[in-house]
Amino acid sequence: MTAPRDVVVVGGSIAAVTAVNTLRGEGFEGHITVLSEEPVPPYTRVPLSKGVLAGRQPPEDIEIGPLPSGVELRLGVRATGLDMRARVVRTTRGDVSYDGLVIASGARARRLGVLGNPVSRELVLRSRSDGLDLRDRLSHVSSVLVVGGGFLGMEIASTCCELGKRVTVVDIVPPLDALIGPYVGALVRESAERVGCRMIVADKVTLLGSPHPCAVATADGRRFEADLVVTAAGDVPNVEWLADSGLRLGRGVHVDERCRAAPGIVAAGDVAACLHLDSGPAGTRIPTWTNAVEQARVAALALLHADDAPRYRPSRYGWTEQFGWDLKMVGAEAPTGKPAVLDGDLTTGHAVLAWPDAEVRHTVMAVNHPTPPAKLKRLLRAT
Ligand SMILES: Cc1cc2nc3c(=O)[nH]c(=O)nc-3n(C[C@H](O)[C@H](O)[C@H](O)COP(=O)(O)OP(=O)(O)OC[C@H]3O[C@@H](n4cnc5c(N)ncnc54)[C@H](O)[C@@H]3O)c2cc1C
Repeated sequence: MTAPRDVVVVGGSIAAVTAVNTLRGEGFEGHITVLSEEPVPPYTRVPLSKGVLAGRQPPEDIEIGPLPSGVELRLGVRATGLDMRARVVRTTRGDVSYDGLVIASGARARRLGVLGNPVSRELVLRSRSDGLDLRDRLSHVSSVLVVGGGFLGMEIASTCCELGKRVTVVDIVPPLDALIGPYVGALVRESAERVGCRMIVADKVTLLGSPHPCAVATADGRRFEADLVVTAAGDVPNVEWLADSGLRLGRGVHVDERCRAAPGIVAAGDVAACLHLDSGPAGTRIPTWTNAVEQARVAALALLHADDAPRYRPSRYGWTEQFGWDLKMVGAEAPTGKPAVLDGDLTTGHAVLAWPDAEVRHTVMAVNHPTPPAKLKRLLRAT
């Protein structure tokens, strides 16, 4: 297969921008068209639950770019279909031809739905406009209920506490345990409780209220109300536009070890599901910022260099900032049990931790510790 001359990138966020920068960085001089359904230039979502929501960081600061010269960025254009035979992306503004395609359409917030009220609108935090909307609404309320105690839900809860709101988090499992393990999870939850954040674990959570949810009911008959309810219950890959394309879709767009979905087509970021990561036939999605960057680099290289491109090996690096904790973590598994301390002292709140112990590590975490990500990755490999 020869290298493409006309590359189309579907998506307008970090995976899309990284793919474009990699293509140009590799000397690709052909035409690049970026199609993004959002009305604003590419930006990073990471600060939306942190500095932007708190009002500390202006939304203009989160832009990523500018894109390299000669890249045509078409905003407000949604891809609606893909004809692989004709090598055409169908869009809300007509067809766009390609000979190389990068699928970087990411994911959207999963919505739980409101009991008996299909028109009720859940508040979620995924896009810049969600973030600005939520920030404005927060200035008019005193209590907030967050449904979902993952990284995003707990970051929203943390920011709301910082803003002086009464905050309740409801989840079906103890917040954060599935991500950072029960040991550090408990430490973060203690800090959350100290600033008044209430955490409820219930078997089933149902949203109630209209036009926006204002309460949740749990399976054991409890009911929790707040001025504002926000859902942070995971994400759903944006693959519907590919439904009739013939591409293999499972948990996302199926890609091989070089992020290839079909000849001349690669996928990266939250939308991609890797088949080579021991995850079974549905594939593995790794919906993190670092993954989007790392995968988009490999995807762009595969478009240009085919089998000479490197294989994609996720570093599995992730981080979160909440309730005064700055956690940076490398590893494929949520840690269990007590960690070994590699550096610092956890009683002072600054440490580098390893699980299951210092000899056999599957997870390394920096807790309020300045260790850079590259060193954490080295520490993980050092066993
Ligand atoms: C509030 C928030 C905070 C986060 N914080 C962290 C963090 O601290 N650390 C971390 O590692 N990760 C974090 N993440 C996750 C991280 O932001 C995502 O993993 C990352 O944005 C994925 O990038 P992406 O480019 O693959 O997809 P996305 O960011 O989802 O971007 C996809 C883009 O494609 C567009 N699009 C979708 N469908 C179409 C279509 N059919 N046609 C045209 N355009 C389309 C979308 O509108 C969007 O602009 C956070 C996410 C959120 C929402």
